[in-house]
Amino acid sequence: MAYFPPSMPAPEPEPVDQEFWAHCAQGHLRFQTCSDCDTPRHPPTPMCPSCHSTKTKWVDPGKTAEVFSYTVIHHASHEAVPSNLPYVVAVVTFPALPGVRLITNITDLPPGDVRIGHSVTLWFDDIGGGMQVPRFRPVGAA
Ligand SMILES: [Zn+2]
Repeated sequence: MAYFPPSMPAPEPEPVDQEFWAHCAQGHLRFQTCSDCDTPRHPPTPMCPSCHSTKTKWVDPGKTAEVFSYTVIHHASHEAVPSNLPYVVAVVTFPALPGVRLITNITDLPPGDVRIGHSVTLWFDDIGGGMQVPRFRPVGAA
């Protein structure tokens, strides 16, 4: 069962981030990285912001991330989310791939227990339609 109800809008991949979502659909989190200078970036862009190369590769950041920042959502901003309140929207970083940040949800933890620096692990939320959304839970949680 998906984390949010089916009425939650699904991501709508654009040409520039289609490959990111295609990796997610296969259960793989990969970040676009410059083939020339190895600078990772997210969200994907057509050109490297460091060296302006257009050559890219997709790099595995590992399954472990750290909470860089977060907020607890108490008020529904969409009709799909009231049953999930309160829930956590977080920015996570990857010790194995410094330089990228991902906006995601922290699940399987009371929102009041989330802390900056918390170690979290990747799981993929199958939202149907062939899409999987990367979310995170505390290391060791089911
Ligand atoms: Zn570059």
